[in-house]
This record gives sequence, structure tokens and C-alpha cells, in this order.
Amino acid sequence: MKKLLFVLLLAPILAAAQPAPYETRKLTDNVYIFRYGFHQSLFVVTSEGVIATDPIAFLRPQAATAYLAEIRKITQAPIRYLVYSHHHYDHIAGGKPFKDAGARVIAHRNAKAKLEQLRYPDVVMPDEVVDDYRAIELGGVRVELYYVGRNHSDNSLVMLLPKERILFTVDFIPIQTVQFRNMPDGFIPDWFDSLDRVLSLDWEQMVPGHPYAGGRLGTKQDVRELKQYMLDLSEEVRNAAYRGKCFDDAIKEVKLPKYEKWGSYAQFFPMNVQRFSTGN
Ligand SMILES: [Zn+2]
Repeated sequence: MKKLLFVLLLAPILAAAQPAPYETRKLTDNVYIFRYGFHQSLFVVTSEGVIATDPIAFLRPQAATAYLAEIRKITQAPIRYLVYSHHHYDHIAGGKPFKDAGARVIAHRNAKAKLEQLRYPDVVMPDEVVDDYRAIELGGVRVELYYVGRNHSDNSLVMLLPKERILFTVDFIPIQTVQFRNMPDGFIPDWFDSLDRVLSLDWEQMVPGHPYAGGRLGTKQDVRELKQYMLDLSEEVRNAAYRGKCFDDAIKEVKLPKYEKWGSYAQFFPMNVQRFSTGN
């Protein structure tokens, strides 16, 4: 009974500590982040229409309807574009409400090719593809889409808002967080070039596709640190291979204490090591 009372008293505090299932954050007068669970997207509002990114509604169609409802709280302007960051369905499933609202769906050429093979039932096919670059001018706002090469997939598009100096990058630049599992679908040597290309663009704040590091925005320093992490990892794996009689045991010894406090270190670091040990 005492225990029950304790739980009842604690319930409002626990509820307050839980993050809301979704929220919209205003970054500038016309740029917003929509977060649903552990995924997030960027949208840009102009007088002539809205440019939205990833519907983030895989196995939860309510995420896309909540996303649209959040946009509608801000503007009644038409939804003109829906830009896919890359082909992974946890980011791009559930775009039908956007398509129904009139959005033109844009993705990288390789993303469309992947989606044509995979035929996910809840992914709307792109109407238009981008090779290396595409600029969208809408209602006095300029949005630039860049393909910066292969990284976490072979089809990531980054979105730059040159005036606002905001960059939306999604999955290939986690902030103070190790890479996802063994970097499935990833291209290791190319990834470094991709990070350099991101560093060469003119921006100040980076919005990733997940609220890493407490949901803060990224900086160029974060990109440099991620690159350093991947370089350190590569070097440690190589050293371990030289030291070890047995490659597998040597790989198990690899630790990078400098990054122990990074997100997902305990969970994914061994898989990151495994990926670098395969040498591709
Ligand atoms: Zn992904």
C-alpha cells in the first residue's frame, strides 16, 4: 500500500520527466525542427509554400499527420516539396499525407533506384531526382540540396539554407555519438570525404535526423570530432591487427576511452570496431 502511494505521488514527476512524444522547435522566423520520438525533420515556411523533409512515420502513420498538423498551426500555405534525406525507411516512410497535400517528392537518384528495388508499401516514390545539386527558390527563401558523396548510404542529400546558415544532415553525422551498429549500408573511405565536403559548405548550425547529445544542434567542431573519432578508430583497429596473433582477439581489445562518454558507446562501439576491422 505504501509502495502504491509512493508510485502515485511520483507519477506526475515521472510524467514530467518524460519528453513529449513530439514537438516543433522554431529555429528562425521560417525554419523549424519537427521531432517525433527519436527522429527529427526540418521544415521551411515561406509565403508561397512549405518545404518539408522526411515524414518519419515508419509503423506510426500518426507521426506524419502530427507533422502536418504542426505545420498547419503555423501556416495555411501549400505543402510544395517533401525532400527525402536518404532511402532509409525509418526516415521516409509515411509520406502519403504530404503527397495528398500536393507535395512534390524529391530524392537523390540512387535513393529512387533503391526504393524501386525495395518497394516499401508505405513509402511514396520520388517525383524528381537530384544528382549533385539542386536549388529551390520559393517565396524569397533559397534552399540548396547537395550530394556530398557516399557515407551512411550512397544517397544522402544534405539541405543547406544559405541565408540562415543552417544545414540538415540526418544520419551520417551523429553528434558526440558513435556510429550506428556496424554502419550498415555505409562506405568507409568515402565517408571521410563526405565530412570534408560538409565542412567546406558555409553553415553555422547543423540539424541531424535524431536528437543526439540532448537534442542540441551541431557545429563544425562536432563534424571535426566525428572525423577524428573515425580516424582514431581506424588507427586503433590497425594497431591491434599488427599486435595480435589472432585478429579476432586483437579486435576485441580495441577501446577508445576518449569517447566513452559519447552516446551509444557501450552499445555500438564493438560493432564500429568490427566494421573497421573488415577494412572496407
Ligand atoms: Zn539511415
